[in-house]
Amino acid sequence: MRLPLIGLTGGIGSGKTAVSDLLAQLGAGVIDTDLIAHHITAPGGCAIPPIQTYFGADFIDSNGALDRSKMRSLVFQNLDAKKALEAITHPLIKLETIKLAKQLADDGFPYLVFVVPLLVESGNWKGQIDHLVVVDCPVELQIERVMQRSNLSRAEIMGILKAQATRQERLAVADTVIENQGKLAELHQSVEQLHQKILRIQKDKLSSS
Ligand code: ATP
Repeated sequence: MRLPLIGLTGGIGSGKTAVSDLLAQLGAGVIDTDLIAHHITAPGGCAIPPIQTYFGADFIDSNGALDRSKMRSLVFQNLDAKKALEAITHPLIKLETIKLAKQLADDGFPYLVFVVPLLVESGNWKGQIDHLVVVDCPVELQIERVMQRSNLSRAEIMGILKAQATRQERLAVADTVIENQGKLAELHQSVEQLHQKILRIQKDKLSSS
């Protein structure tokens, strides 16, 4: 694509959604792969039939959606089940992501932001984006924010953090780091600067193509 493709990642509770919401307000085309994952496992979603076939009707709730808590408990303790679920959902998420990206490009957005929580861990994205933005804050702040937002315990959050890349691993591959340990007003400023930086990348990309 001729427009800049921006990857946006960060650990749980680091502020990815806060950043992508602000970028969307500034005019970015945002594709949140977590939202796509929810969409394909909602009632009528394209992942429901293969999940039902592989895991059984017990994993589909009375509304026809994936029973998330049941599946979470299963994949947390069973690596094969986790792999099987990912083998079903990942290609479908990819297809939906590409479809949405084409649509947003046609709609004339100046650049696209792909919000991918496990971008650094997955490895597949690296060659496909022009610029990687990492949202970063201290682990203690991540835990505090997630505890405030959800009813997950500290131990559960620690378990999730353990399964994710470390701050250092993410920072090592970032093109831009958004520090998100201050007030939301400060985040606004950093995101505005990021938006300007990406518009410059867009100009360069257009003039070199
Ligand atoms: P997840 O990976 O769990 O989806 P995330 O990286 O998308 O999380 P957000 O949802 O953006 O993170 O932020 C986590 C919580 O912290 C939210 O409730 C959000 O409103 C709050 N938050 C984010 N940044 C700040 C900030 N700078 N000041 C105060 N609260 C913040």
